[in-house]
Amino acid sequence: MSVESQNDFNLKSKNANHCVHTKNIYALLDISSNEESYKKLTKHVESCLQCAEELNQFKLKTQAAQIYIPKVVMDRDLRQSFEREVSELFKVMNLNDRQALKRNVKNGFQIIDSIGLSFIKNLKSKTMIKAYMLGFLIFLSLKFFL
Ligand SMILES: [Zn+2]
Repeated sequence: MSVESQNDFNLKSKNANHCVHTKNIYALLDISSNEESYKKLTKHVESCLQCAEELNQFKLKTQAAQIYIPKVVMDRDLRQSFEREVSELFKVMNLNDRQALKRNVKNGFQIIDSIGLSFIKNLKSKTMIKAYMLGFLIFLSLKFFL
């Protein structure tokens, strides 16, 4: 293997488990295709190379070893927490972008707000009031004496 392809290989295997859904796709072999999680995961696998690859590998492995492994059936608690986790993960994925945007807008307003507030606080401070009075006195004296 050349250095370049070795690097490429390392990069690929490093990123292989990057997708948050990878650990859940095994359930596709186990749950009914009518279920919401199944539909979501199938749709995801179609667009995610990592999960597609993982599922493919897993299918090959289970096909090879099917005779020896008793079929695992999820019990109700596990099923419920699985469903919850899948829908939470998708929610988080969809919301992340919007939340980041909202946060930025909110931060922007907070910065503008704090600038505005400190400006107003400065206006009301004693030094500023003295300055106003001084300015007013200068204005009056100019008006009267010139
Ligand atoms: Zn994925």
